[in-house]
Amino acid sequence: MNTSLPDWLTNGHAHIWLPYTQMKTADLPAPATRTQGSRIELADGRVLIDGIASWWTACHGYNHPHIAQAVQAQLARMPHIMFGGLAHEPALTLARRLCTLLGPGLDRVFFTESGSVSVEVAMKMAMQYWSNQGEPQRRRILAFRGGYHGDTFGTMAVCDPDIGMHAAFDGAGARHELCELPTDEARADALEARLHAQADRIAAILVEPLVQGAGGMRMHAPAVLARLREMADRHGTLLIFDEIFTGFGRTGSMFAFEQAGVRPDIITLSKALTGGTLPLAATVASRRVFEGFWSDDPAHALMHGPTYMGNALACAAALASLDLFETEPRLAQVRAIEVLLREGLAPCKTLPGVRDVRVMGAIGAVELERRPDHAALRRTFLEAGAWIRPFGHIIYLTPAFVMPPEDLRRLTGTICSVLAASTASHPD
Ligand SMILES: *Cc1c(COP(=O)(O)O)cnc(C)c1O
Repeated sequence: MNTSLPDWLTNGHAHIWLPYTQMKTADLPAPATRTQGSRIELADGRVLIDGIASWWTACHGYNHPHIAQAVQAQLARMPHIMFGGLAHEPALTLARRLCTLLGPGLDRVFFTESGSVSVEVAMKMAMQYWSNQGEPQRRRILAFRGGYHGDTFGTMAVCDPDIGMHAAFDGAGARHELCELPTDEARADALEARLHAQADRIAAILVEPLVQGAGGMRMHAPAVLARLREMADRHGTLLIFDEIFTGFGRTGSMFAFEQAGVRPDIITLSKALTGGTLPLAATVASRRVFEGFWSDDPAHALMHGPTYMGNALACAAALASLDLFETEPRLAQVRAIEVLLREGLAPCKTLPGVRDVRVMGAIGAVELERRPDHAALRRTFLEAGAWIRPFGHIIYLTPAFVMPPEDLRRLTGTICSVLAASTASHPD
C-alpha cells in the first residue's frame, strides 16, 4: 500500500473548490483512481464498497462495458453537435424510447444537461403554457416541505428552505408556495385551502413522487400522489413530478409514478439517465402541455436552449443504459436489495439515538435524533472500507442495482456497528 498522497491531489487541492464543503476545515477528499462494479479504488490501493453510487447515478455499477462501447462508438462518429437547427440519431431515438417507457400521455422530450436545469425548464413550460393560454398571472409553483429540486436560483425557490443547503441565499430570489405534503386529512385540507385561495395564480404543483431524496429521504404513500393528481385536476392546474432521484428503478418500479397509477403533466429525469456516466437530463411534457405552445405566433415557442443540449455522447450512454434495463434483471435486483436493506438495517431501529429506519426499493435511510459529526462518521466508514456520506440527520444507502449481496450486507453491518459503537460511547 502506498500511503503518500498523489501529487495531483496535494498540488491541485489549493486550486479546487469542492461542493457543499467548508474548505478550511474539511478533510482532504479521498483520491479516487479507478472504479469497477460497485467499488472505488483509492490512490493508496484501498478499495471501497460504494454505498452511494455517485449520488445514485451509477445504477448499473461503474464501467459497464455496454455503455463504454456505445460512448466510444459515438465518440468516433460525432461527439457533439449543436441542437439548434440540427438533429441526430441518438437524441431522437432516445426521445422516442423515453416516451415509450413513460407510456401514453408523456410524449415530448426537452433535453438539458443537469437535473436543476430540467426542473427550471419544467417550471418555464408550466408558466408559459398558461401565458400562451391567456393566463399570464399563473406564475406560482406550489412545492412541498422536505423537497429538493436543485441548486440554481429558480430551483432554490421551490426547495424547502430549512433543509440547510441554501440558507446563505435567503431573500435573494422570489419564493414560490410551500405546503406540507397531503399525507393526512388535516394537511390535505390545508393544501386544499391554499389551492382554493390561489387557484388562478398557481401554474403547477411540483413534487418528488414517493421519496423526497436530498431533503431527507422522506417517503410517502402512493395515495398522496393520487390525491395531488385529483387536486390539480379539480383546480385546473398542472402537475410536475420530479423523478430525478426516483426514476429508473430506484423505488422498485421503473418510475415512481407507476406505483400511484397516476401520471403527471410534466416529468423531469436525470441522475441515473446515463447510468452515471455523462451529464444529461430530460423534461418530458404531455401532449396537452406541448399543444399549449403549438401556434402561428413565434412568441409562443419555448424559449430555452442549452449549448450542450442533447449531447450525442450522453444520449448514446442513455440509450445503452436503457438497453441494460431490458437485457439485465434490474428491477428484480432492486427487489432483492430492498429485502437485504430491510433485514440489514433493522437492528438500527432499537439503537439509542436512532429516530427511524426507512427502506423503499434500493433506498435505505437511518434517521438519527441529532445531527451527527459528519466528518467523523465519514472517516469511520472510510476506515471500514465503505463509501457512505451522511447528510443532515440521515445516513443512507443508494447502492448500484448490481451490488453483490455480500457487499450490501457489509455496508448495512458497518452502519449498524458504527452507530451501536457511537451511541454506546455517548450514552446521553
Ligand atoms: C439531484 C436532484 C436534482 C438536481 O439535479 P442536478 O443534476 O444536481 O442539478 C433535482 N431534483 C432531484 C429530486 C434531485 O435528486
